[in-house]
Amino acid sequence: LYGPQRPNAKGLNLMINSQLEPLLQAMQPWNQHQWQGGPLLAAAINAAPGPTQAVTSPFDRQQQVGQIQWTSPEQVPQALDAAVLAFPRWNAVAVTERAACLRRLADLLEMHFAELMALCAREAGKQLKDGIAEIREAVDFCRYYADQAEQKMGQPTLLPGPTGESNELYLTGKGVFVAISPWNFPVAIFLGQISAAVAAGNAVLAKPAEQTSLAAHRCIELMHEAGVPRDVLQLLPGSGKELGPLLTSDPRVVGVVFTGSTGTAQQINLGLAQRESGPLATLVAETGGQNAMLVDSTALPEQVVADVLESSFASAGQRCSALRVLFLQDDIADKVEELLAGAMQELKLGDPRELATDVGPVIDAQARGKLQAHVEHYRQLGRVLAETKVPAAWSQGDFVAPVAIRLDSIDELTSEHFGPVLHIVRYASTDVMQVVESINRSGFGLTFGIQSRNEGFAADIDKRIRVGNVYINRNMIGAVVGVQPFGGMGLSGTGPKAGGPHYLLRFVTERTRTINT
Ligand code: GLU
Repeated sequence: LYGPQRPNAKGLNLMINSQLEPLLQAMQPWNQHQWQGGPLLAAAINAAPGPTQAVTSPFDRQQQVGQIQWTSPEQVPQALDAAVLAFPRWNAVAVTERAACLRRLADLLEMHFAELMALCAREAGKQLKDGIAEIREAVDFCRYYADQAEQKMGQPTLLPGPTGESNELYLTGKGVFVAISPWNFPVAIFLGQISAAVAAGNAVLAKPAEQTSLAAHRCIELMHEAGVPRDVLQLLPGSGKELGPLLTSDPRVVGVVFTGSTGTAQQINLGLAQRESGPLATLVAETGGQNAMLVDSTALPEQVVADVLESSFASAGQRCSALRVLFLQDDIADKVEELLAGAMQELKLGDPRELATDVGPVIDAQARGKLQAHVEHYRQLGRVLAETKVPAAWSQGDFVAPVAIRLDSIDELTSEHFGPVLHIVRYASTDVMQVVESINRSGFGLTFGIQSRNEGFAADIDKRIRVGNVYINRNMIGAVVGVQPFGGMGLSGTGPKAGGPHYLLRFVTERTRTINT
């Protein structure tokens, strides 16, 4: 089913005990498990791997999750050799067979749901509801791109043949892709990138974020089990600084699919452009945002507060879609700020596997340090409006307390603050167009929220704002595959949108065949 009837993976309602309990029970054996991960490369590779490192939990650095072995720089060119050989063979496999591998992977992900949930919680600090959404999204990506590949690549498009020739247009894989993925969606974005590239007939070298290499390792094991050959899809866990340039500077690489910071995307782009040989490369980049929500005086304060809490503090604010700057019209600002400050006092930080936890940890000490320095700066200026407390019991984890900070303008922010930090700007109704301009001027264009019961106003703002995903009278996170294709413009990414009908097209090359009959 390609149309509006296409079903997505089923979720769980954690408020219902008969759904929550079996999940917690199924996760139980994985709560002490130690995962072992490392490079997963083509059989022919004989260079020795790099060192091994212990992996610990962001919510408690005393707890070990397993061990990861890094890829050595010497393994990289060998992995590329193998990928170059693997590509034409995989590209010649029928698209229905490649799609079948992805559908098998989707089934395997569902079978290993509890293990992957536990791994996401323990390695990445993912809360239960985020873990469920994460694995569902990965399942959806696999099935969606499998459908898309069959639909778009299954049959050539027949073209007119006015002179008696037969003409057809068809799509085929491009070559060797490098997939560089983030830690904030260690299963969903990781597998989303790869499944699109593989479905289209490409060979892939996957370099996951260092922080979530064990989840990546488990996903690639499952992908191999689903039938994608080892030389078609190789995993190279390791340092982005070390391995990234080795991969992206190689002339045998035809494209890079990347999710992460805007700065890193720019570096990759530069590296690709500076190669002295090799093809003009494709770059698919999904990067950061300076996402705003505009609230006018007709909005419902209670709904605004619920949507702001979800948009700013769910997943500890570690989504590129998360709300960073809340614009409150003067007439409603006192009320919203008062309700928000009260609600923030109720947020509970703690073990992400507990249902009562509202906000989990941030990914690591470095992220925590950067966020805390930003908050401290505004504390000195007396601009902290409201703040949650980190309970003393969690001092051994990388927690950052959700906080609201007063700004005069979005222009004060020169970088993305990837955590539970909300900035609030008040505006007068006469200044609303300047506000819209200031948001557009930031150069980012990922998500944007409007809260208003004035439909004309909302429609007008929607027309003027330059972003990829607009959410009206709801929260701004959790785009669903095939339902809310996700991705931005400008500094926020190249497009096409993940989980949308045009994504796969960036991974293929078009060919026209003319036969003189
Ligand atoms: N697609 C996710 C969402 O809608 C965000 C992806 C990201 O953080 O990279 O919340």
